[in-house]
Amino acid sequence: KSKGKKQAKAASKDIKQAAVLGAGIMGGGIAYQSAVKGTHTIMKDINQDALDLGLNEAAKILNKGMEKGKVDAKTMAATLNHILPTLDYNAIKDADIVVEAVVENPKVKASVLKETEQVVSDDTIITSNTSTISINQLAESLDKPERFCGMHFFNPVHRMPLVEIIRGEKTSDDTVNAVVAYALKMGKTPIVVNDCAGFLVNRVLFPYFGGFSKLLLDGADFTAVDKVMEKVFGWPMGPAYLLDVVGIDTADHAAEVMAEGFPERMARIANDPVQSMYKAERFGQKNGKGFYNYG
Ligand code: NAD
Repeated sequence: KSKGKKQAKAASKDIKQAAVLGAGIMGGGIAYQSAVKGTHTIMKDINQDALDLGLNEAAKILNKGMEKGKVDAKTMAATLNHILPTLDYNAIKDADIVVEAVVENPKVKASVLKETEQVVSDDTIITSNTSTISINQLAESLDKPERFCGMHFFNPVHRMPLVEIIRGEKTSDDTVNAVVAYALKMGKTPIVVNDCAGFLVNRVLFPYFGGFSKLLLDGADFTAVDKVMEKVFGWPMGPAYLLDVVGIDTADHAAEVMAEGFPERMARIANDPVQSMYKAERFGQKNGKGFYNYG
């Protein structure tokens, strides 16, 4: 009974200040979403250009909202005021929650998480937006792994409702409850999942991408497949376009992780066209060439 009470208290814990580490595609989007819903959000990166890009991204989303009449001048000003860009670790010391969204590299993430724990207070919640690294593995870099879990957003953050909250073996109930509450405050729909390769969404998505790759090897035309899935089957986009949006490099790396996690079910496909494109540096929208070409 007392546990239930404690959980309820944690769930209502008001996150007054958040810190996002990394101001890239995801970090910029997460900082925007946190700020637009009224949370003071520190956005930390290691270089000024990235911070500028992150802020520009937020301004672009707000401008689009203004054009559509969905955002007023007051919200625009308040949101931008709520994002506090910084290059200084000390600026995150009072954060109630930290969302780590730096590059997908286990060593970099481990050292960023360690440094974070040294700066923040003992009850600050720490989360990672990793797509492919085990939460249990990342937790090993922390002295207090019970305050840590995954918080996996989807791209573009301001449009995708889902957030996967990944509970590690040592994550406490209080931590999960507080992160669920923060995701709800951000206007998102959280689901709590256990730690495994691909969590939930990528375990569904990667067999689909694999099926698409096999179709291509059987001679299918990718534009025809996209047309069918999009125009006729009714999905918002077909697999080739989705892979270009996700990034062929990201998708290739994730396919490796899924194959390692589920060798029987998701083994790499011989001559996978996605892997050939990665080797040919066709990374998708991010470098202007993938299945399609972008101007
Ligand atoms: P990105 O390359 O766009 O941004 C990473 C940012 O981290 C860069 O601005 C870089 O300067 C910064 N950075 C690097 N080291 C840092 C440090 N020590 N401290 C602070 N900042 C540092 O990458 P991204 O696509 O935004 O991905 C970030 C994370 O989100 C990764 O873990 C990735 O797997 C995950 N993710 C990505 C997507 C996606 O579609 N791109 C979706 C879900 C999750």
